[in-house]
Amino acid sequence: MDSRDIAKTFRDMARLLEVEGANPFRVRAYQRAADALEELGPDLPRVVEAGGLTEIPGIGRDLAAKVREALETGRIREYDELARRVPAGLLQVLAVPGVGPRKARLFFDRLGVASLEALEAAAREGRLRELPGVGARTEERILKGIALVRAGMARRPIGTVMPVARALAGALRAVPGVHRVTVAGSLRRCRETVKDVDLLAEAEAPEAVSAALARLPGVAEVLLSGPTRTSIRLEDGLQVDLRFVPRASYGAALCYFTGSQAHNVRLRELAVRKGLKVNEYGVSRAGVTLGGEREEDVYAALGLDWIPPELREDRGEIEAAQAHRLPRLVTPADIRGDGHVHSRYSDGAATLEEIRAAAAARGLEWVIVCDHSRSLRIAGGLSEERLREKTAEIRRLNRSRSPGDPVLFCGVEVEILPDGGLDYPDPVLDEVDWVLAAVHTGFGQDRARVTDRMIAAVSHPRVHCLAHPSGRLLGERDPMPYDAPAVFEAAARHGTALEINASWRRLDLDDLQARAAAAAGCRLMLGTDAHALEQMDQMEWGVGIARRAWLGPDQCLNTLSAEALEAWAARKGKGA
Ligand SMILES: [Zn+2]
Ligand SMILES: [Zn+2]
Repeated sequence: MDSRDIAKTFRDMARLLEVEGANPFRVRAYQRAADALEELGPDLPRVVEAGGLTEIPGIGRDLAAKVREALETGRIREYDELARRVPAGLLQVLAVPGVGPRKARLFFDRLGVASLEALEAAAREGRLRELPGVGARTEERILKGIALVRAGMARRPIGTVMPVARALAGALRAVPGVHRVTVAGSLRRCRETVKDVDLLAEAEAPEAVSAALARLPGVAEVLLSGPTRTSIRLEDGLQVDLRFVPRASYGAALCYFTGSQAHNVRLRELAVRKGLKVNEYGVSRAGVTLGGEREEDVYAALGLDWIPPELREDRGEIEAAQAHRLPRLVTPADIRGDGHVHSRYSDGAATLEEIRAAAAARGLEWVIVCDHSRSLRIAGGLSEERLREKTAEIRRLNRSRSPGDPVLFCGVEVEILPDGGLDYPDPVLDEVDWVLAAVHTGFGQDRARVTDRMIAAVSHPRVHCLAHPSGRLLGERDPMPYDAPAVFEAAARHGTALEINASWRRLDLDDLQARAAAAAGCRLMLGTDAHALEQMDQMEWGVGIARRAWLGPDQCLNTLSAEALEAWAARKGKGA
């Protein structure tokens, strides 16, 4: 156990003691000791060795003995005994807003409630309201609280959480005495879903920053507030952890709290082999700190190049960093065009001119305007005649282009029919610049049928790209069962690109599949699938997935100039 583990155990003990009805001074003593240990951090073993533990305010003789016991044996006997009397599952029950120690005790004694599930069942069956001092209103509030705790445990799409995290970080940066605030955790690694928000801050007066955080709109409750860490829950259940870190260990802490855990485990193993110690406070040898102010310090001490956060999943990045062979990853600045935007011609909200202006505002040189094909009537699929009108308008707009105006390409998001055929005849497809083939119906087909359908599409000489290949909707619809390697192989053979759909609802291909597709020799096209102009900002998530897939600029068609893309499309369209 390290200082943080011991602090957490002390906090749990305080809460369980409260349930037991212990002396409040004893409860408070554990809480104060936990604060002191968190502040001490990595200095704990040294302080213990020097015999200075009892000199720390908040740690008396009794608690000092428990700290030593924890350091030596990895256990605290008194905690084990306490957990025998008061089930640790009650900690979950206590996490529910509206359930304090007294109620938790009551529910446990009278109904045997010792877990979130048991509490929920009791509330649903109306058994809580039969207890003294608990009414139907309380029961209702507890059910809402359980939903909140559950929502806090669920994973959420990056596209919904990142804006919240950035807004919080921005608000905290405005607090006087705050030097910097960084979004860490899986958000920084650009994972498609995240569980909570991890923020890191360097600040003169952490208490003032914590207080400012607690006062921000949308904050439902403060879960924990200590000198080094504050945790809050937002009204929608999302948990936010803010940690205060001194400048000297900011890089080490950023590395530690960015994760992933698997990546960090590898770093620690590497450190041990070099006789070093790596943790969130820095890199040290025999108690002497070697560095930690910048992330680069940590990696350099381990003989590694700095590793971009998106790669930190223990998927070969450590070995690549050791060999100085990390890939040059695609960046937002490399992106010159958006491969998938809908206009008002089908189910998009914007006109072609608005799309062009929005692309210019985002620094893009081109946009492929893809609208749905005729059979997808619910999404305003275009008849051949309407498609010709759209093509004509695009040609007109491109001819009247002012310098700096992005080029619009006329695309179709054409249905792959259940038999693998396409929803427009070839002569119609010949009239457009870009054919993006997509499955939107028949998700119930079996694996072999779906695979055949997709292979037929990527093998079609006029198809440039396969849209959102797996068809998944995060949290709503599972990916279709299809033989991805077979589809990638066929796409590579026919020079057909695969999409990384950048909409945070899809992110399809995902990181692992995009990496596999690139390894199979496919090119990738990022498309926001924007149905409204502001959704063109979703390119950011697509770039994140591309980076997590280890893709370089050459593997993404979005890095081509308008002329180069046009040439690529024309060559491909001839079936070359
Ligand atoms: Zn689609
Ligand atoms: Zn679309």
